[in-house]
Amino acid sequence: MRVVICGAGIAGLSLAWWLERAGWEVLVVEHAPGQRGAGYLIDFFGPGYDAVERMGLLPRVRERARTVAGVRYRDRAGRVTCELPYDSLVRLQRGRVVTLMRGELEDLLFEALGPGVEFRYSTSVDAVATAADHVAVTLTTGEVERADLLVGADGIHSRVRELAFGPEWRHLRSLGYHTAAYLFADPELGARVGDHLEMVEAPGLQAGVCRLDGERLAAVFAHRAGADPLPEDPRERLRERYASLGWLIPEVLDRCPEPGQVYYDEVAQIEAASWARPRVALLGDACQAVSLLAGQGAAMAVAGACVLAEELLRDGDAVAAPFRYEERVRPAVVRKQRAGRRIADWFVPASRTRLRLRTAALRLAARPGLVGLLGPVLRTPDDRLADLAAHR
Ligand SMILES: Cc1cc2nc3c(=O)[nH]c(=O)nc-3n(C[C@H](O)[C@H](O)[C@H](O)COP(=O)(O)OP(=O)(O)OC[C@H]3O[C@@H](n4cnc5c(N)ncnc54)[C@H](O)[C@@H]3O)c2cc1C
Repeated sequence: MRVVICGAGIAGLSLAWWLERAGWEVLVVEHAPGQRGAGYLIDFFGPGYDAVERMGLLPRVRERARTVAGVRYRDRAGRVTCELPYDSLVRLQRGRVVTLMRGELEDLLFEALGPGVEFRYSTSVDAVATAADHVAVTLTTGEVERADLLVGADGIHSRVRELAFGPEWRHLRSLGYHTAAYLFADPELGARVGDHLEMVEAPGLQAGVCRLDGERLAAVFAHRAGADPLPEDPRERLRERYASLGWLIPEVLDRCPEPGQVYYDEVAQIEAASWARPRVALLGDACQAVSLLAGQGAAMAVAGACVLAEELLRDGDAVAAPFRYEERVRPAVVRKQRAGRRIADWFVPASRTRLRLRTAALRLAARPGLVGLLGPVLRTPDDRLADLAAHR
C-alpha cells in the first residue's frame, strides 16, 4: 500500500509513523524547505496524550516538557490582575498534560520515523485525480505520484482540501481574532520574565511572553481583528496594534525577528462538510481545526492520525476507511469547536467591563478546589482516545 501525505506537521508525521510501521510506502510532501521548528508553546493533553502513549512516545514527549509555574495576567501598566497556577491545569487533567513547543513535538515525531518514509520539501500538490483502484497526485514539481491514498494534513489553509473538497471560504469560520507568535533570544529579559507565562492585556488585545530556557523566550499575541485582512508585514502590524501595551511588551516587540520567522494568521475553525472521499482523507487542522481558543488542535491531530491509521490497517480499504475515521472523530471535534466558540467573546474581552468580569472569573477558578470551573472549556466529555470509538 502506498500513501502520499501532504504536510509534515504534527498530523502528517503522526500518520506517517503508523503507516510506515505497518509496512506502507509513505511519501510526505511539504511546501516548506525543511522541518519548520519551534512555533509556540502548546498544552498537550486529552486524546492526543493517550495517542502518544499508545505510540510508545510518551517518555520522549515528557522529556521535552517545559516547566511553567502558571499564567500571570497584568494590565497595561504591568500590575498583576490575576494568577492561574499551572497546577490547576495539571490537576484538571489528572497529571496527563505536557507543555512543550509545537516544533519540539514535530521534531520528536520526525525522529521517531524509520528510514522508509520519503520526504520531498519545497513541494506541494497541484492536482488530484481519483480512479477506482488508485489516486493520481500531481505535484508542483510536475511529477505524478500514483498511490492508494492521498491525505491532506496541510493545515488550516489546506491545498488538498481546496482541490478535493472545494474552496476555503466554504470551510473556514473566522473567530474574529488575529494571532502571532515568535521566538527570540535575550537572557537578561528572560531573567525578568521568570517562570510564568506573563500575559499583558487591554480591551481587545493580549500579548504574552514566556522564558523557554536560559536564552530563548516565546512571544504570543492575539487581538480582535474583525474582518481585517492579514498584513503583508506582520512586524509592522504587531508594532501598530500592541505598542500601547506596557511592562515588557515594547522590549518584546523590539526583538521581533524577520517576517519569515513570525507566525501570523487569523484564528479560525475548519468546519468541512466532509473529510473523506474514496482514496482521499483530510487530517488535523485541514478538517478539524478547533482554534487556539479550544486549545486542543495538536492533541486532536495526533489522535485523528491514530484513528485514521487504525481504520486503514483494519482491512487496508483506502476507499472506505476515510469515511469510518471521519465518523469516529467528527463528533468530538464538533463538541470541542462548540466549546471554543462559547468562550470566543471572553478570550480577549472587548471592553474594560468585560475584561474585569473575565479576570474575576479567572481569580475564582484559581482558588483551591474551584479549578473545575475551567472544566467546561478545557475538557469536553470525549477527552480520552478510547472515547473516539464510543458511539460506534
Ligand atoms: C498560538 C497557538 C497556540 C496553540 N495552542 C495549542 C495548545 O495549547 N494545544 C494544542 O493541542 N493545540 C494548540 N494549537 C493548535 C495546534 O498548533 C494545531 O492544531 C496543530 O499544529 C495542527 O497540526 P497540523 O499538522 O494539522 O497542521 P499544521 O501544524 O498547520 O501543519 C501543516 C503542515 O503542512 C504544511 N503545508 C501547509 N500548506 C501546504 C501545502 N500547500 N503543501 C504542502 N505542505 C503544506 C505546513 O508547512 C506544515 O508543515 C495552537 C495554535 C496556535 C496558533
